Amino acid sequence: MQINKPSKLSLAQLPTPLQSLDRLSDKLGGPRIWLKRDDLTGSATSGNKIRKLEFTFAHALNSGCDAVITCGGIQSNHCRTTALLAAQLGLRCILVLRGEKPNTLQGNTVLDALAGAELKFIPAKEYQKNLNQILESEQQKLEQAGLNPWVIPTGASDGIGIWGYINAAEELKQDFDRLNIQPSHILHATGSGGTQAGLTLGAYLHKMQSQVVGINVCDDEAYFQTKVREDISDWQQRSDYPLNMEELDIQVIDGYVGAGYGKADQAVFQTISELAKLEGVILDPVYSGKAFNGLITEIKQGRFGHVSGKSSSDIVFVHTGGIFGLYAYQQQLHSILDI
Ligand SMILES: *Cc1c(COP(=O)(O)O)cnc(C)c1O
Repeated sequence: MQINKPSKLSLAQLPTPLQSLDRLSDKLGGPRIWLKRDDLTGSATSGNKIRKLEFTFAHALNSGCDAVITCGGIQSNHCRTTALLAAQLGLRCILVLRGEKPNTLQGNTVLDALAGAELKFIPAKEYQKNLNQILESEQQKLEQAGLNPWVIPTGASDGIGIWGYINAAEELKQDFDRLNIQPSHILHATGSGGTQAGLTLGAYLHKMQSQVVGINVCDDEAYFQTKVREDISDWQQRSDYPLNMEELDIQVIDGYVGAGYGKADQAVFQTISELAKLEGVILDPVYSGKAFNGLITEIKQGRFGHVSGKSSSDIVFVHTGGIFGLYAYQQQLHSILDI
């Protein structure tokens, strides 16, 4: 059945490369690990959010908006990407950030400020309690100033944004055909659920053999089972597609959140350092590094298939970006680096 695709802007550098991590795979002795380089979707705009925001901004512009408001953690990659794209498109941008105002800007917030976004720092407790009211009041302020703002949900994860990863699934299918591989799993860090919703739905719609698996970096499996379904039903309502939700297999590997969102233990930093040394690839402690550390741990426990001659089994990890967040973790990095 044909699905009506909504309009999208062309902002990301696509398609991204799919590269095999041979030295790491050999060292682990498990399946061949492929990396989908969504950390290369742009320079300052790199990471997974730009795939979703291509659809979100198209929708906002089609609705006549001239400003965007969004929210996230202080080191939100989503907020940074939104700020830069808003600048590129000539829209005003308000960012509601969870946490006290820091003494000096670090990592993503440097780029937020450079892009001219207005930063509103909200203490964590108040943010958790009143986020919707805070967003509404920012919206009203802009409306009173004669603007027409669009509020983008956390991570641009909704029925509009997930189109970015429905398309990414199709892109992966083309990668697999070209490379003549049939990966058993597509794994990625899951945080606000949209990447997982898009990939799961995309793999289903494009009849892919691979199982999509999110490794959560916050909350727990039950949260993501609900959130991913919510994003997909929002998509379904918008697209009028007769989807049987029961047929979707939503898989989450829980157990690698550690002390909480944005908090990473030694093992995560060791994994980041190991991958940088072995393959020249940089992960981040909040998302990609935390999830990749989970993946490596699972491989060591024999969870995924093993390489045996030509019939090697392949798995894919989607590198969702996040490099700027690394620069907000100097102390933890120093403690594991020999300098
Ligand atoms: C936001 C983000 C994720 C999680 O994606 P969701 O769609 O929010 O689940 C993963 N990695 C990075 C680097 C991110 O910024």
